[in-house]
Amino acid sequence: QRPVSSDWRARAERLSDADMEAFWMPFTSNREFKSKRRLLVGAAGCYYTAEDGSKKYDTLSGLWCASFGHGRPEIAEAIAEAARTLDYAPPFQYAHPLGFELANRVKQFTPAGLDHVFFTNSGSESADTAIKIAKGYWARRGRPEKNRLIGRVKGYHGVNVGGTSVGGIEPNRAGFGELMATGHLPHTLLEENRFSRGCPEHGADLADVLEQQIQDAGAETIAAVMVEPMSGSAGVIVPPKGYLERLAAICRKHDILLIFDEVLTGFGRLGATFGAELFGVTPDILTMAKNITNGSVPMGAVAVTDAIHDAFMETSPLEYDVEFRHGYTYSAHPLACAAGLAALDVMERDGLVARAAELAPYFEDQLHNLKGLKHIVDIRNLGLAGAFQIEALPGEPGKRPWQIAMAAWDRGLYVRFGGDTVQLGPPFIAEKADIDHICNVLADIIPSID
Ligand code: PLP
Repeated sequence: QRPVSSDWRARAERLSDADMEAFWMPFTSNREFKSKRRLLVGAAGCYYTAEDGSKKYDTLSGLWCASFGHGRPEIAEAIAEAARTLDYAPPFQYAHPLGFELANRVKQFTPAGLDHVFFTNSGSESADTAIKIAKGYWARRGRPEKNRLIGRVKGYHGVNVGGTSVGGIEPNRAGFGELMATGHLPHTLLEENRFSRGCPEHGADLADVLEQQIQDAGAETIAAVMVEPMSGSAGVIVPPKGYLERLAAICRKHDILLIFDEVLTGFGRLGATFGAELFGVTPDILTMAKNITNGSVPMGAVAVTDAIHDAFMETSPLEYDVEFRHGYTYSAHPLACAAGLAALDVMERDGLVARAAELAPYFEDQLHNLKGLKHIVDIRNLGLAGAFQIEALPGEPGKRPWQIAMAAWDRGLYVRFGGDTVQLGPPFIAEKADIDHICNVLADIIPSID
């Protein structure tokens, strides 16, 4: 039996080969990792501590989720207090007060009209929950054939079957046999928009492809269109000016629900509480996760309109009917709710969304200063999200960003690489000097690799 200890460096050191073998790591090249492991043993503010004691600047707020900074004592205390008071409560047919408190708190931040909140444990679960709500809504309204989802090429909605199907990152979809039948709109990465700052000028008309797909399939077969206001995982794909507005108008015209996946953009990443607020477009369903607990305890949520909520309530004839046969053992987990309440308090009290908005123009300038460096073929940004598109090595896609990230690790930065992009999403508490440092290190590294 190993001692429980807060000395995680010692714990890292004690790991055996059998320990390393036993853990099948998610979304990781396991063989590569195990040959050059990168273990984190602590975090505070904007920094991780690695097992050798070195500090690594967290350039992606964990995975876009610890945006209010690591080690917030208020959040840690709230989690501990919940663990002592009510470590677990069954969410089916019973409940605890924090679930209701948090639902109402979330509702204060979501766009007006999205007034009912369903809890999940992750972004992926939020995506699949939203998909089932959309399909269930039309079935409840007597139109079960209105059942198909339309996503977007390069979209990411997590890894469960629904989200994988609606998502459009091809390697994530390949190799799993038959997924849910869905349609996909084109992505909006256009040649002429390279090196755009913020929302690109061209491409709003790509939303009109939806009209064509509706003509082909029939609006009576389409339940919902699901998009991220800004696609993060495929490398910060920023919507062209007017694009989301147009998409929403087409959905409205044809009686198709609009789902915004705000798992990554929610709670401040774009310098507004939600992308919906930034773009002035209110979806029918909005999914969240990540920042809702500042990444501290797994949690996701789905907010819906009265009309959708009521469709479930009004069509269940018996008073003891379960209106929506869906939910998770850990929906509204007490620890997650406690963490969520504390995290949103921190966000509001410290004005962190405004801080993200304030820092965004500086972040944009510093990123775009790297234009012209060898290997960088595009730079994209919105709010405190940014990406460098790296020219792919022929026959070895994704290799250069991996090399960049490994070199950055050795220079004291944790950097996320995905596809042929290097992605940045600093904590909202970052200083201008931090942005300078990140960009200086990357400006050294990127041109120096093969
Ligand atoms: N949706 C979006 C837009 C995301 O960015 C992510 C994660 O990055 C997910 C869904 C999946 O979230 P999770 O990894 O918590 O399942």
